[in-house]
Amino acid sequence: MLLRIFNHLRRRIQQRRQAALRRSEHCLKVLLFHGVYDSQQEQELDQVDRGLFAKLEQVAAEIQCCRDEGFEFVRAEDIPRIRGGRKAVLTFDDGYANNLLLLPLLAQLQVPATVFVVTSAVLDQECFWWDVLARNAPPGTRLSHSRQALKRLAPPLIRRQLRELFGEDCLQARNASDRPLSPDELRLMASNPWISIGNHTHDHGLLNQMSDGEAARQLSDAQHHFEKLLGRSPSLLAYPNGRYNRRIQELACQLGFEAAFTTCPEWTPLPLRGSLQRMAIGRIGPCAASP
Ligand SMILES: [Zn+2]
Repeated sequence: MLLRIFNHLRRRIQQRRQAALRRSEHCLKVLLFHGVYDSQQEQELDQVDRGLFAKLEQVAAEIQCCRDEGFEFVRAEDIPRIRGGRKAVLTFDDGYANNLLLLPLLAQLQVPATVFVVTSAVLDQECFWWDVLARNAPPGTRLSHSRQALKRLAPPLIRRQLRELFGEDCLQARNASDRPLSPDELRLMASNPWISIGNHTHDHGLLNQMSDGEAARQLSDAQHHFEKLLGRSPSLLAYPNGRYNRRIQELACQLGFEAAFTTCPEWTPLPLRGSLQRMAIGRIGPCAASP
């Protein structure tokens, strides 16, 4: 009973702090999206977890909304050095090939964006497991329960289980909506002046469920593949599913990341204070919940 009251009070205090921060002259708002689509691709969304997809118009509307609230869009790489003001950052997780649709929009609106990429998806060209689950789940399945159950497993076991359930070819891309970036497309994205590439681990394993050694390998393997694919490795990290703890924050720092992003729907006070805050920057968006 006491614990419930304590948690309730803590949530209320946190909500008030966030409300004050949203009005503050010095705060950072980071937007989070995943896959995107245009009118042509809309009918293909039955192959993916539709809740994670946003229409290009919706992305443009969110950008305009931030600007109306007085936010200036900056590069995510600049966050550690920003001293104040109302700043916004645009991010996209996972590395869907359909993120290429963003390039004309970003140039037109003059907004930089960071795409956090899962390197094994680029190299293996297998679909993301949550899309495979969404398109194969029998009607009436509570997807959120199935997702939570699978998230307890390591990614190779998730893929094995999906193959057993839905067939050997279930991880193959069906259309433009569910495909990860290819190596050439990743290079094309990385060469665009409005795009930077971030690390989203090698196979989207949940870092807080791993030993220190496994988590370090996830991050370092991805950095190694980025180095081979792009000739450089990212300075930014987004934790898969937003999962992190103090141990993972410290590890990300030790590995040289300059900032790391969660999926906690929070605004961040500027300037950032200390390395631990730099390694747990919240993000807000219509698709912020997972994965
Ligand atoms: Zn992700």
